Amino acid sequence: MKEIVLKGIPAAPGIASGLAFILDKQEYIVTPRAILEKEVPIEIARFEEALIHTRQEIIEIKKKMSNELLGEHAQLFDAHLLVLEDRALIEDVVKRIKKEHLGCEYIFAEVIKKYAKIFSKIEDEYLRERVTDINDVGRRVLKNLIGEQKLHDLNSITEALIIIGHDLSPSDTASMYNKNIIAFATDIGGRTSHTAIMAKTLGVPAIVGLKDATLQIQNQDYLIVDGRKGLLIINPEAETIAFYEKEKNRIEEFKGQFQDIKNLPAETIDGHRVKLFANLELADEVDSARENFAEGIGLYRTEFFYMNRTDMPTEEEQFVAYKKVVEAMPGMDVIIRTLDLGGDKFISSLQIPKEMYAYWGWRAIRFCLACPDIFKTQLRAILRASHYGKLRIMYPMISGAEDLRKANAILDEVRASLRRDKIPFDENLMVGIMVEVPSAAMTADLLAKESAFFSIGTNDLIQYTLAVDRVNEQTADLYQPGHPGVLRLIKRTVDAAHVEGKEVSVCGEMANEPHLALLLIGMGVDSLSMSSLSILQIKKMVRSIKYSDAKNLADKVLQLSTGHEVETLANNTLKDLIPGLFSSKTE
Ligand code: PEP
Ligand code: MG
Repeated sequence: MKEIVLKGIPAAPGIASGLAFILDKQEYIVTPRAILEKEVPIEIARFEEALIHTRQEIIEIKKKMSNELLGEHAQLFDAHLLVLEDRALIEDVVKRIKKEHLGCEYIFAEVIKKYAKIFSKIEDEYLRERVTDINDVGRRVLKNLIGEQKLHDLNSITEALIIIGHDLSPSDTASMYNKNIIAFATDIGGRTSHTAIMAKTLGVPAIVGLKDATLQIQNQDYLIVDGRKGLLIINPEAETIAFYEKEKNRIEEFKGQFQDIKNLPAETIDGHRVKLFANLELADEVDSARENFAEGIGLYRTEFFYMNRTDMPTEEEQFVAYKKVVEAMPGMDVIIRTLDLGGDKFISSLQIPKEMYAYWGWRAIRFCLACPDIFKTQLRAILRASHYGKLRIMYPMISGAEDLRKANAILDEVRASLRRDKIPFDENLMVGIMVEVPSAAMTADLLAKESAFFSIGTNDLIQYTLAVDRVNEQTADLYQPGHPGVLRLIKRTVDAAHVEGKEVSVCGEMANEPHLALLLIGMGVDSLSMSSLSILQIKKMVRSIKYSDAKNLADKVLQLSTGHEVETLANNTLKDLIPGLFSSKTE
């Protein structure tokens, strides 16, 4: 088989090699599981047993329907029985188990998919409609083989796999906390889409914007994912495999260099201190924040609470999670961002059409102000947890003082209700905003008077400033963090905050790219918040430079006219200041 190289957008660094699993929008997810030669008869027996069991089930249903005078409908199940008794289908499965040495559920799911595809192309309408029967029976057999629950569950993956999807929604990736998922790649998406953010959190390489990877790759193809360069190699030749094995070792060595600075402060050579915080998507990730010596949590994205479920999270449930995080970071700031629903993140339990909360629409704080009950439940949980440590609240998508005042009015109501109920909370809890809408950056001088701190959300600030969708691969080239328009807004925000004596952080993906972090420090940003696994690398950078050099870079960059010129200068400056460390793009 010929080696094929696909080029996409680098989304999370690292290299992985292994077998592909295509996560298409099918009704069930059944992943391959390797079996030994001696297990082949066992798998065949499991398969045959599941067929018998399913047959009995169908006959029972048929009988029940006939008894209830639904005879006409009962006939439908005759077609299902025919699928179950189809010799060719059964032989196909048995043959493939013997040849491929994979679990019978996976082989059966593949064969069913093949049959469904063949039938869907048949011209005769009656036969074409048999696709539904095939899928129904397939589902029943699979349920009998692995259980209903596991049919939707990526957590049940037991073999190391590379997940390939057209798109992976934040709710898909949130279910991928499984060490057997070793990389992701998607057809669509951009540099700061949530697939990229999640992959960095999980520490697996990822590529987005590959355009047609799902068409070019088959399940079980051997792949190499190079997340640094955005390259995906299908059926690599021996030479390519050997090259990447060496690269993997180099990356391990590169990471090894950071261990000795773990518990040293993030301070430049000339004594300027920068705080490095962690971003969290789920409460459990706080362990990783601690292991990487985060100085606090700069952004706890709480919307993952609301995904992959049919009900709303309760106050108690949220309180327990927030308390867990704040107690795990004693004496350190933990900034909880209130619900940022919208864009590509939506609440599963509310039946709201997706297009209603597009990036430009009814999202984040706008949604919370319109649904005060949902908002109040969350605020109550956060305030209650504030009694146990140094919590802060941060509102997303604030576009001006009006949003902030409305949100604060609701917060005051919640405070009053807790006082009435005699429930303790931190009366001095700081309330800040994300600066991610250009109008907030433009009015930062006004907002700084009413907000305790700022955190610049560059992921959104870039998309709204440049009018470029952050998850669209077609316009990925236009999504430029170094664009002078973006940099001017950041500078304005930092200066306005400092005039009022307020701190400014950056919690977007710009913070974990060494050359851009260097630039942000030079522009006066006080702290950077990023996925835990990037902290040590950025700390190494901070400890290897002088603040004066970073400021010089910022001064020069603010004179440049294009995003490309800015990125080139920032990259070259980093290479000059720290020769050899980041130049090989090994990170
Ligand atoms: C941002 O917009 O930069 C940000 C950190 O928030 P999110 O990526 O969750 O939109
Ligand atoms: Mg944002």
